[in-house]
Amino acid sequence: MTSEKELREQLATCTRIFAMQGMIGLFGHVSVFQPETKTVFITPGMGSDKGSLRPEDMVPMDLDGKPLAGKEGPPVEWPIHTALHGARSDAVSVAHLHTPNATLFAIAKRRFQPVTLQGAVFSDGVPLYPEAQLITNPERGNALMKVIGDKRAALLRGHGIVVAGQNLQEVLYTSLVLEDDAKKTLQAAALGEVGTISPEDCRAFGAEIALERRAQRAWNYFCSLASRWDRQPATGRSELFP
Ligand SMILES: [Zn+2]
Repeated sequence: MTSEKELREQLATCTRIFAMQGMIGLFGHVSVFQPETKTVFITPGMGSDKGSLRPEDMVPMDLDGKPLAGKEGPPVEWPIHTALHGARSDAVSVAHLHTPNATLFAIAKRRFQPVTLQGAVFSDGVPLYPEAQLITNPERGNALMKVIGDKRAALLRGHGIVVAGQNLQEVLYTSLVLEDDAKKTLQAAALGEVGTISPEDCRAFGAEIALERRAQRAWNYFCSLASRWDRQPATGRSELFP
């Protein structure tokens, strides 16, 4: 069993890296599940400074969203996390983000398809949760679960993204890949028709097979960068929504 201390540390690290990359800010939250104790550890809600989060800032809750310690409750959209942690043994970590590029696919009427080899991990597609509403109760959480099924990620209409994975390393890496593929799609569209990577080519590339190794290397790389990050947005300004 991964210890609470380790889960809290990894969750704080992952969230600080998302902040460094401009993928989380005023909004957004990340969680990790300890199946043996059925405890979810989640980042605090709106307004917390995600770039400075420490292990002790994480909020423990049960699968009904009840806080298990501390004064602070979980973010209002906690059902996103409990629905996935409760239903899928491979959804040990879940990120809900309002990333600048992938969120555009939740706005434009255009299906997401991978455009790079790294993006091949999304060969199954990224389905859209069609309701323009926050996911603030278990019914909506279950509806999201039905949309995402066994897939890695979903788009939330007019809102953001949800990414699930076997651990925080995997969720960090695949979220970075989803955001990067979305950005490259937008940029390539300025040049003309965008060529996507077919499901067959995705499978041939074997992104899934090498995923654990890639995710661990990306984790080590970004941990190194984050250790010397000054915790300021690069330009001194920050986006409202990531
Ligand atoms: Zn949100």
